[in-house]
Amino acid sequence: MANCAIVGINWGDEGKGRMVDLLTEEYDIVVRYQGGGNAGHTVINDKGKFALHLLPSGIFRDGVVNILGNGVALDPENLWNEISSVCEQGVGITPENLKISDRASLLLPWHREMDELEEKRLADKKYGSTKQGIAPFYSDKYQKKTILAGELFYPEKIKEHLRDLLEWKNLILTGVYGAEPITEAEITDWLNTYCEKIKPFVCDTGEVLKTASENGKKILFEAQLGSLRDLDYGIYPYTTSSNTTAAYAPIGSGFPGAKIERVLGVVKAYSTCVGEGPFVSEMFGDEAEELRKAGNEYGAKTGRPRRVGAMDIVATSYGIEVQGATEIALTKLDVLSGMEQIPVCESYMLDGKEIHRFPFPAALSDATPVITYKKGWMQDISGVRKWEDLPEAAQEYVTYLENTLGCPIKYVSVGPERDSIILR
Ligand code: GDP
Repeated sequence: MANCAIVGINWGDEGKGRMVDLLTEEYDIVVRYQGGGNAGHTVINDKGKFALHLLPSGIFRDGVVNILGNGVALDPENLWNEISSVCEQGVGITPENLKISDRASLLLPWHREMDELEEKRLADKKYGSTKQGIAPFYSDKYQKKTILAGELFYPEKIKEHLRDLLEWKNLILTGVYGAEPITEAEITDWLNTYCEKIKPFVCDTGEVLKTASENGKKILFEAQLGSLRDLDYGIYPYTTSSNTTAAYAPIGSGFPGAKIERVLGVVKAYSTCVGEGPFVSEMFGDEAEELRKAGNEYGAKTGRPRRVGAMDIVATSYGIEVQGATEIALTKLDVLSGMEQIPVCESYMLDGKEIHRFPFPAALSDATPVITYKKGWMQDISGVRKWEDLPEAAQEYVTYLENTLGCPIKYVSVGPERDSIILR
C-alpha cells in the first residue's frame, strides 16, 4: 500500500487527528512533519480521550513507530509535559515508539516570551498567535539562530552555542522590547530539566525512514493546521509559520525522497477558523452560537471559541488544489443534524463580480459570501455506519459536495470516536 499524507483542507481543526488515529491501523510509521504544539488534535479511542499537541496521533497503536521530523518546532518543555500526561493516561511512550529527528530545531525558552511581547506590541493589530513561540521559532530557524536536537549529544558545544544565542537574543529582549534579560542559569536549568528528558528519543530518523521504506513499510505523514494557514499558500499574514501542505511532508519528515501516492484531505462539513484574519463565510449571532455549541467548537490548546461559518466551496476547492488531495474525509456531518436548511457559500462577490476562485489574501477582506441553502435532516446520524442508512438529505449534501469539489469523499465521519465512520 502507498504512503499517505493526512492534511487539513481549510483553516485547521478539521479532525485530522481522528483520521490519523483511524488509519494508523494500516500503517507502520506516523510522522509529524511541520508545526509545533500550538494547535491540537483531539483523539478519542479505546484508551481514552486525549488532546495531542506535538505527539503524532499514531502513538496509541501498538507496533507503530512515531516520528517528529526535522520540520517541527520542537519545544522540549511542552513535549515532555505532553509525554508525561499521555503516559499518565496509560499509554506507553518509549524510544521504541517515539523518535525525534536529530535535525529538528529546538524551540528555545525565549521564543514564547518573544511571541507574547510582539503580540502585545501589535495590540489591536495582533495576528491572534497562540503565544507558543512558533513564529519567533521559525524566523530564528531560518536565520540559523537556534539549536538542532542532535547537538544535545555534544554538551560542551551546545553550551557555547546557547551562550552565543543568548547574548544576541538579550539584545533584542532588552533593547527592542524593554524586557528583562534571560540568564544563563535559566538556560542551564532548561537544558538539564527538559532537554535531558527528551534526549533518549533523539536519533537519525532519516535513516529509520529510509530503512523502513526499503523494507516495504508504509508511512503516514501527519500535518498540523490546514491549507489556508500554509505560510506560502494561505491567508498571509494570518497563516502559521510553516508549510501545512502535503508537498512539504517529504522535506519536513526527514525523508526528502519519499513518494506520497495518497493525499487524504480532511474537510469539515461546515467551516471554523481560530484567531484573526479574513473568514468570508463567517456566521454570527444565534445561528453561529448554535453551530458552535453543537460542534463543540472551542480550541483544544487554548479553549478559545472558534469562529464558525458556512461550508465554503471557494476556499475548500482552493484548499484541495494546493494540497493535491486525491480523496476527502468529510468530518462532523452529525453536527449538522437538526438544521432545517444548511447554508453553503458557493461563490464570493468581489468588486461587483461573482468569483469562484479564491482571491489574493489582501483582497479577501473585501469579499462577501454568496450563500445558498441545502435541505437538512432532523435525525441523529451519529449511530449510522453505512452510507445507505444515512437520511436522503444527508446523502444529497455529501454527493453535492463531492460533485462540486471534484474530489471523491471516501470517508464520512459522524462522531469523534474511532468507529463513528462511514466508508464509501
Ligand atoms: P485536528 O487538529 O484537525 O485533528 O482537529 P481537532 O482535534 O482540533 O478538532 C476536531 C474536533 O472534532 C475534535 O474534538 C474531535 O474529537 C472532533 N471530531 C472529529 N470528527 C468528528 C465527527 O465526525 N463528529 C463530531 N461530533 N466530532 C468530531
